[in-house]
Amino acid sequence: MRLGIDLGSTAIKAVLLDNNDMLLDTRIVPTGGLPAQTARAVAESLCPCGLPAHIGATGYGRALVNFATRRVTEITCHAAGVRRTHPDAASLIDIGGQDSKTIRLDERGAVADFAMNDKCAAGTGSFFDALARRFALEREEMARLALTARKPLAVSATCVVFAESEIIGLLAEGAKLAEILAGVYAAVAQRTGRLFAQAGCAGPAYFTGGVANNEALRKALETELQTPVRTAHNAQLMGALGAALLA
Ligand code: ADP
Repeated sequence: MRLGIDLGSTAIKAVLLDNNDMLLDTRIVPTGGLPAQTARAVAESLCPCGLPAHIGATGYGRALVNFATRRVTEITCHAAGVRRTHPDAASLIDIGGQDSKTIRLDERGAVADFAMNDKCAAGTGSFFDALARRFALEREEMARLALTARKPLAVSATCVVFAESEIIGLLAEGAKLAEILAGVYAAVAQRTGRLFAQAGCAGPAYFTGGVANNEALRKALETELQTPVRTAHNAQLMGALGAALLA
């Protein structure tokens, strides 16, 4: 058996594989304030009879997984997870709680190049969650509402604070929330498009990380990149799967 742990900024993801690399079980839990302890508890809950001999760790907090036998970067792990799940993948977009990355794969599935935004939270999961809270919407409700818009409004959405005041201003002028939100997703897709070009990525692209479950952003990315963008199967678990495969 092999275990993969992805200790992310927002969520700890874990994947347990059997000896034939088949998925046995998975976990996704909030990272919280005690990440090292939570990571161990997650591992023990997946393996109540004892931890396996091969344990891979990835994610920004991988150094905290002190029971890991191997540590690998998120970029390599997402690439390995996606290539295993979707052998046709040539590029991927990973958007998590606090950063976004684009990764280009070569013919063998190895990482050829990547680009990353970890300087600012705009366009990441925490940005969308803050906006949803501000407008008293559930995460999925916000995406669904944006999908009903006829046309996205021009919104710059460069940071959570500015996006909030920009939206409040637009609402006061009588704009529809659906169209404003569609504009926010379009602005984020534009920024992600720049990262996509920076890494020399070409479509079709697979979308990973928790935010890959956001259908409004996936569609906005397709419109921006003019190429199919597919949500990877088990998108949020791709890093943990890669860590297990590389353990
Ligand atoms: P990290 O590795 O940085 O912890 P993840 O890839 O686990 O990040 O993604 C966490 C983010 O995913 C959260 O910030 C949350 O906003 C987002 N997320 C999780 N589930 C969904 C969903 N169903 N729809 C949209 N966003 C989601």
